[in-house]
Amino acid sequence: MSEFPEGLLLEASGLLSSSPSWTIFIHQKADGDAVGSAAALFEAGRLQGRRVRWVGPDKALPAPFLFLPHTEEYLFFEEFAFDDPEELYVFLDSSNEDRGVRGLRSRSRETVVLNLDHHEDNTRYGTLNCVDPSCSSTAELLYRLMRAGDWALTPKIAECLYTGLVTDTGSFMFSNTTPRTHRLAAELLSLGVDPSRVGSRIYQSRSLASMALWARALSRIEVWGGDGEFAVTWLKQDDFSLAEAVPADTEGLVHQLMTVRGVRFAMLLSQFVPGQVKISFRSEEEMVEAATVARGLGGGGHPRAAGATVEGALEDVLAQVRSELEKRHAEWIASR
Ligand code: AMP
Ligand code: MN
Ligand code: MN
Repeated sequence: MSEFPEGLLLEASGLLSSSPSWTIFIHQKADGDAVGSAAALFEAGRLQGRRVRWVGPDKALPAPFLFLPHTEEYLFFEEFAFDDPEELYVFLDSSNEDRGVRGLRSRSRETVVLNLDHHEDNTRYGTLNCVDPSCSSTAELLYRLMRAGDWALTPKIAECLYTGLVTDTGSFMFSNTTPRTHRLAAELLSLGVDPSRVGSRIYQSRSLASMALWARALSRIEVWGGDGEFAVTWLKQDDFSLAEAVPADTEGLVHQLMTVRGVRFAMLLSQFVPGQVKISFRSEEEMVEAATVARGLGGGGHPRAAGATVEGALEDVLAQVRSELEKRHAEWIASR
C-alpha cells in the first residue's frame, strides 16, 4: 500500500486550526471508533478555544461509551441544515453522505466539509478528503493528524483515541491490526491510558437486556455450506421488545458467530423497523469478502466487515442474502 501523503494530514489539521467553529458528525449506529474519535476531536477543539458541537443521527450514544468526555454534549439531529459558510463541518468515520444526519446532499455550495475516515469505499464527498484505508480506525488517522499539526495530546485525548483503536480492531485481533496500530497503542499507554479501565468500561458494561437479546439470536444460529463455513442468525422487532433491548445492543453480536469452529462467513439480520432489515457481514481471510456480498445487496463497508439495509420482510430478506452469499461465494471460488 502506498504511503498516505503527510501533506494531506497537515492540510486537514491546518483547516481545523484556522476554523473558529466546528460541528463534528458521526455515523448512524455509532461505534467506539466514531464516538472515540469525536470525543477526542471535541476535546482538542475545546483546548484550542474553538466553538465545538457534536451531532449524530442516533437518539443517544451507546451506553458503554458514555464514560468518554463530552458525550453529554452530543446532539441528536435527524436532519441538519448545512448552510453556514463560516462553520467547519467535520465528518468522522463516515464512508458516504447517507450514513449520518440527512441534509448533507443538499448543502449549500459554499459550506466547507472535512471528511476524515479510513473506509476503503469512502465516496470522497468532502471539500477536503483525508481518507486513509491503511489506518485501522479513524482514531488512528486522527492521531496522525494531531501529530502532524503538533497538537497537544493529553491523557484524555489519548483515552478517546484508544477507545476507537481497541474497538475497531476487535481488541487488536482483526486483520486491520498492523505494527503501526500496536506502536500507536503503546504510545497512547505512555500518554497515560489505563487499558484495564477502558477495557472494563467498554466490555464489562453489558445490560441484562442485551444478554437476553443475544440469547435469542444465539439460540437460532444456522450453519451451512462446505464444512459449515457460513453462519446466520436474525432478530425481529419482537425480539427487541421481549428482551427490552435496543438496536445498539446488537453491537458485537455478529462477531460471536465467527467464534463458532469452522465458521468463516457470518451474517446477522436485524429488523429494527417494519419492512426493513439491517444486515451485518463478517468474513475471514481466504473467503469471499464481506464487502462483496454487502455491495451485491446495495450496501458496503470494509473488506471483512460490511453492512447493508434491505427492504422487505425478514423471511424474504433472509432467503435473498443466503442466495447472494452462495452466488458470490461460487464466483469467488471460480476466480481463484
Ligand atoms: P456493522 O455490521 O453495522 O458493524 O457495519 C460494519 C461496517 O459496514 C461498518 O464499518 C460500515 O462501514 C459498513 N456498513 C454498515 N452498514 C452499511 C450500509 N447500509 N451501507 C454501507 N456500508 C455499511
Ligand atoms: Mn464506525
Ligand atoms: Mn472506523
